[in-house]
Amino acid sequence: MKITRREFSRLVAFGIGTQLLPGIRAFGEDRTIGYCIVGLGRISMQHFMPAVKTSKKSRITALVSGHRGKAERMAAEYGVPSRSIYSYENYDEIRNNPDVDAVYIALPNSMHAEYTIRAAKAAKHVLCEKPMATSVEDARAMIQACESAHKKLMIAYRCQYEPAHLRAIALIREGKLGSIQSIESAFGFPIAPNEWRLDKKLAGGGPLMDVGIYCLNASRYVTGEEPSELAGFSSVVDEDGRFAQVEETLSWTMKFPNGTLASCTCTYGSSMPGYFRVRGSKGTMIMEPAFNYDNVHLSGQLASGEKLEMAPDEPDPVQFLREADYMADCILQNQEPKTSGQEGLRDMELMAQIYQSCEKKRI
Ligand code: NAD
Repeated sequence: MKITRREFSRLVAFGIGTQLLPGIRAFGEDRTIGYCIVGLGRISMQHFMPAVKTSKKSRITALVSGHRGKAERMAAEYGVPSRSIYSYENYDEIRNNPDVDAVYIALPNSMHAEYTIRAAKAAKHVLCEKPMATSVEDARAMIQACESAHKKLMIAYRCQYEPAHLRAIALIREGKLGSIQSIESAFGFPIAPNEWRLDKKLAGGGPLMDVGIYCLNASRYVTGEEPSELAGFSSVVDEDGRFAQVEETLSWTMKFPNGTLASCTCTYGSSMPGYFRVRGSKGTMIMEPAFNYDNVHLSGQLASGEKLEMAPDEPDPVQFLREADYMADCILQNQEPKTSGQEGLRDMELMAQIYQSCEKKRI
């Protein structure tokens, strides 16, 4: 027999302990975290939700969508009761749903701030997709709202929980590559017209906000440092109407305090599978593919002759399972997520600086 947190609290209030009710599992024992999915789009329906379905720690307990029919179909598939389907208008009522511990926000970027702040006010934890927001100001407001409500805020940087990325970071910290001279990283894809990603109001920017953020975040976790200087260039090559509001391609260079230089490129104009390459005084490390949902591959060659090789056999959506369960652990153990709001804010500040640098160079 399993009881809800509310039922358990009521029993405790009446002085009935679990010792009197054999078979009842107390709140806290084998507890799972209930996620409310906010936005039923590609990342939530094709990756995050199927991942949670396989979890022992997390489950989907509520849905928020503007399309009732789609929400009902997904609710039937995931065993979510009809009463736990919300619209964007009555979303705040999740406050009264004891089965919702946290929300997973998978909306267009500019909506992340509003739905995070409303979740915090409804006393729910937040796992928010990247980029955290579309402005530094919004990112700060999200952190403030979650802090005031004493709720966790985690940004969904899935690569920071992926085993090959963790191994790469460990090898660099152990000094296997010697002093890190340079990082090259890129990520891009040819975008279809009429995507919300091309609407500056919804996206906040172009490929930098969407895919360049992977190169930026990786450069930061690879070096373990924050860039001290940066400079960028952006361009529109294809004058076909797609890039009236956002850049098509953007390249930038960052200098880190230890002297490492990182050169990154992102684009919506061509297929550019994500990678990063790290050149050190004692060897080279290559992560390629780096930012895919699966088939991540770490390789490299050290001056000592040793070869680096790691290709975790983790099919999609395992990265999303790791992320969902990590957040569940943070909630259950009351720990601050590694990729907290502060981590998201740092990328937001740097992306704002990269855009400023590109603007300054317009001829
Ligand atoms: P999507 O377009 O497939 O889904 C967006 C959802 O938001 C849809 O359900 C849509 O109906 C809803 N929506 C509500 N208001 C909307 C509006 N005004 N305009 C457009 N849609 C609206 O997008 P997606 O690719 O799933 O991306 C969602 C978020 O997830 C983005 O922030 C994106 O950066 C992030 N993302 C993360 C990863 C990752 O690997 N972590 C991958 C892809 C996307």
